[in-house]
Amino acid sequence: MATTEQRHEQHRSTAGPARTLKVDNPATGAQIAELPSLDRKGTLELVDRARAAQPEWDALGFRGRGALLRDMRRWLVQNRKRVIRTLSDENGKPYEDAQLEIFYCADALGFWAKKAPKWLADEHERPHSPLLLGRKVVNRYLPYGVVGVIGPWNYPLINNFGDAIPALMAGNSVVLKPASLTPLSSMLMQEGLRAVGVPDDVFLVANGPGGTVGSALVDAVDMLHFTGSTEVGKRLAEQAARRLLPVTLELGGKDPMIVLRDANLERAANAAVWGALQNGGQTCISIERVYVESEAYEPFVAKVVEKVGRLRQGAPGAAGKVDIGAVTSPEQADLVEEHLRDAVERGATIEVGGKRRAGTGLFFEPTVLTGVDHSMKIMREETFGPTLPIMRVDSEEEAVRLANDSDMGLDASVFAKDPAHAEHVARRLQSGAAVVNDALANYFAMEIPIGGMKESGVGARHGRIGIQKYAKRQNLVVTRFALNRELYYFPYSKGATKLTEWLIVALFGRGSRRR
Ligand code: NAP
Repeated sequence: MATTEQRHEQHRSTAGPARTLKVDNPATGAQIAELPSLDRKGTLELVDRARAAQPEWDALGFRGRGALLRDMRRWLVQNRKRVIRTLSDENGKPYEDAQLEIFYCADALGFWAKKAPKWLADEHERPHSPLLLGRKVVNRYLPYGVVGVIGPWNYPLINNFGDAIPALMAGNSVVLKPASLTPLSSMLMQEGLRAVGVPDDVFLVANGPGGTVGSALVDAVDMLHFTGSTEVGKRLAEQAARRLLPVTLELGGKDPMIVLRDANLERAANAAVWGALQNGGQTCISIERVYVESEAYEPFVAKVVEKVGRLRQGAPGAAGKVDIGAVTSPEQADLVEEHLRDAVERGATIEVGGKRRAGTGLFFEPTVLTGVDHSMKIMREETFGPTLPIMRVDSEEEAVRLANDSDMGLDASVFAKDPAHAEHVARRLQSGAAVVNDALANYFAMEIPIGGMKESGVGARHGRIGIQKYAKRQNLVVTRFALNRELYYFPYSKGATKLTEWLIVALFGRGSRRR
């Protein structure tokens, strides 16, 4: 079994000139794969191959690409057991958390195949300007060419392949760089796409250290979608700015949940426990802090503590075996420990959990804290682990103020008896998504965009913008019936200028008609 320090060392070894990538199962510590690791030159070659393959892929049209992606959906469903096992092995997540990744990606393959022809169709508008009378005015969408997708380890399918799907449907080829800790499920997606007939170089997986492979992608692709930490996202944005590369960034979160006094506390507690601890709390939109109105505080805490105490943690395996799996990244386990130490030193109480589990694998007990406040890291910085800090507040106003007291703004939950009241509160939150009487559900609303406010990101996935961002736009104006010259062409003359003057006054000279 690899110790935390050994796993650190091994991960670091991929950041130098090493040419292989070792993959561990965090639940057992056993090495499960060793893959070739690309250097900069190899990454650039991959981008060249993807670029050469793109025109043929684009030429298939929405119909041809959609048919292949629907075949990929069938492949994914037929191979789901193998993919689930791979996800559990490389990430340490339970069967059900892996199954959710299959659900999302299978759904997304059909969703984007269906929506792309509509959301990327030419948009015809009737021009309003008298200067464009009779013209055809069209907004066109064209694929960028090669899209780079760089993904994190917490959702090796959803936040990696999942973001490649709309890019592919838009007619781009994709080079995906998965996190070094979890490259295997992306390799399976490459295998699946080839098996259903997608040309080999249309989707390529670039394995290797972020600083080398990810950085080379930023220098070579035509558009970049990044999901990961705010720290790395900022660095990539700076690098991308040097060549004006279009980027979208899906970054960290510190998502609040507000429980108002009249909420259904049984549902709120169930949602808090699942929303904070599913996938071991390693979800960008995990509930990371809870604010409960005084009147509901004690019963809510009692319910949460009781429910968390009953959770089963252990190495993933068959369906229904465990609720919480392993911590995927050793660095993350250290961070969770640091946040807990800091909170306890500043007066917090650990109600349940609170430590690493001894023995095989990397496990951190699901942990509930009370007596927390905003002087503590656990209430202000992303923890990204199985922790649930709960804070008592005196009023709805205080809950909103504290929820907004953050550099991040990804998702948020509000619980109240009256959904309209909860919605009113949700609309006051500074987060790119908010959900009423539920947790994390925003991610399944693929029809509308989801992305971060503040330091949680730039741009969005899902909705029209979730596929239009993978396309260049062309503004096309077609003049069909015309005189030899326009009013505003050379030579400038007194007569034409006077006429334009008259038009300005006649068309725009009036104020509001209300008075
Ligand atoms: P990370 O350390 O930022 O890494 C993300 C990806 O970037 C990995 O593939 C990594 O490669 C690569 N990378 C690292 N340094 C790079 C560089 N200098 N140039 C180019 N690429 C580089 O994040 P993580 O620890 O994997 O993921 C956890 C974070 O992701 C959390 O903050 C979480 O909130 C966030 N997240 C956000 C969303 C969202 O939708 N907003 C979704 C999921 C996760 P290596 O693995 O080789 O280092």
